[in-house]
Amino acid sequence: MRFDIFSVFPSYLNSLQLSLVGKASVAGAIDVQVHDLRDWTTDKHRTVDDTPVGGGAGMVMRADIWGKALDTAFVEDVGVENPRRILAIPTPAGHPLTQEICVDLAERCDQIVIACGRYEGIDSRVATHYDSHDDIEVFEYSLGDYVLNGGEVAALALVEAVARLVPGVIGNPESLVEESHGSAGLLEYPNYTRPLDWRGESVPPILTSGDHGRVARWRRDEALRKTALRRPDMIAALDASTLDRRDRAVLGQYGWYWPKNPDVGAHPVRPVTELSATPEVASHYSELARRTFPDACPQDMLASDIDAFMDAHLGRDMFTTYMESADWLLIGLRDTRGALIAYSLSSIPDGDGVAGEEDGAPVDTVLAAGPRKGPLIELSKFYLDRQWRGSGLAGMLMTATLEELSSRVREWERPYLWLGTNTGNKRARSLYTKLGFEKVGNRHFTVGEQNNDDIVMARTLDVTY
Ligand code: SAM
Repeated sequence: MRFDIFSVFPSYLNSLQLSLVGKASVAGAIDVQVHDLRDWTTDKHRTVDDTPVGGGAGMVMRADIWGKALDTAFVEDVGVENPRRILAIPTPAGHPLTQEICVDLAERCDQIVIACGRYEGIDSRVATHYDSHDDIEVFEYSLGDYVLNGGEVAALALVEAVARLVPGVIGNPESLVEESHGSAGLLEYPNYTRPLDWRGESVPPILTSGDHGRVARWRRDEALRKTALRRPDMIAALDASTLDRRDRAVLGQYGWYWPKNPDVGAHPVRPVTELSATPEVASHYSELARRTFPDACPQDMLASDIDAFMDAHLGRDMFTTYMESADWLLIGLRDTRGALIAYSLSSIPDGDGVAGEEDGAPVDTVLAAGPRKGPLIELSKFYLDRQWRGSGLAGMLMTATLEELSSRVREWERPYLWLGTNTGNKRARSLYTKLGFEKVGNRHFTVGEQNNDDIVMARTLDVTY
């Protein structure tokens, strides 16, 4: 791989003679040539710039000087027939430089020519002109969303990032495998070395356990955690098929969930407590509720009864009441695009929270079931849209519900959350068990004319599962 770098400050690039890149040049693994752009000027002041056409502040680097300089690089014999040549132009207006691009350049290029701009940059015709050559590819790239004084730092970055991927430059290629921005699409886990204790800080004990499996898992958890906190854009780009259950659980702690349909991709999900209703928000809940309620009904239930129940309890007006009344708590989960994907609705009794028979609570069954004695809150609805079931989101919805309920009834002594679920709905029961509910009794629940047998389950409000 040959690099030709053109700059008005060639000595800025002397550091390329140091360290791994310097050694790789001496060893012949790469060939780095630095050129002074002013060598192609003809006036006595060695001028490379002029005022901007159309007016404005600053100076622009002249296309004619750059053209003469760059032409000499593109006729260089780089030791292969039909070499693949790139003209790399650093600019804050360029494509962000990524590891993926550097890997691609290292694999497929024979020569990278870098044109370091200064002042307001290089006359735009230089890029257009070389891009029209069949054997030259122009790549305008940026180091990040900030403005440097010149392209030299960006040239150093490109040479170093690409050169270390050229075979023979890094002594131990293994060290490239688990790095940040590698094939896992994550940031690297934290690294430690001796001394194991330093200024009161110890190395995480698992790393000295000698258990390679647990060390690998810990490192993966840390890489996921760090990436979720620092680079949500990288989490959003992950391929869901590369994530195991544990990965998903770790990412769930940071609000990331994947629906079952892999085409939908990753979604950061956030809980919202709905306190003030607009007709639009109430409609979102009503639509989701009407979509999901039939799934929890016994198979032999009449469609007309289900519809009548939904009209009475799950319409837009009812959700307006749920949001605005202190007797109800409505929590939703929305994805980043604002789509409502899950909700819970809890009925909070008045006063001290001790529910009477008139509230419809199976007070006897719940209280009779053991040492539980306390006010009862009914978890009336707890639904996830179909494609989100099994994604782990139920835990997030339950946690958000428990936390909000706890803060609402802080004064109450040992409150309990109870729910009734249809006897035949085993899937719901096993989910509620995972979410910390225990069976405490039975009740009858009427939809239309039909009497249904429900299992009653209850749990405390502490957020533990
Ligand atoms: N007028 C230019 C603009 O607003 O896009 C900025 C020119 S900058 C002061 C001068 C030179 O620094 C650029 O031509 C480029 O070579 C280099 N440069 C500045 N910021 C850079 C960045 N973020 N990435 C790559 N090169 C950069």
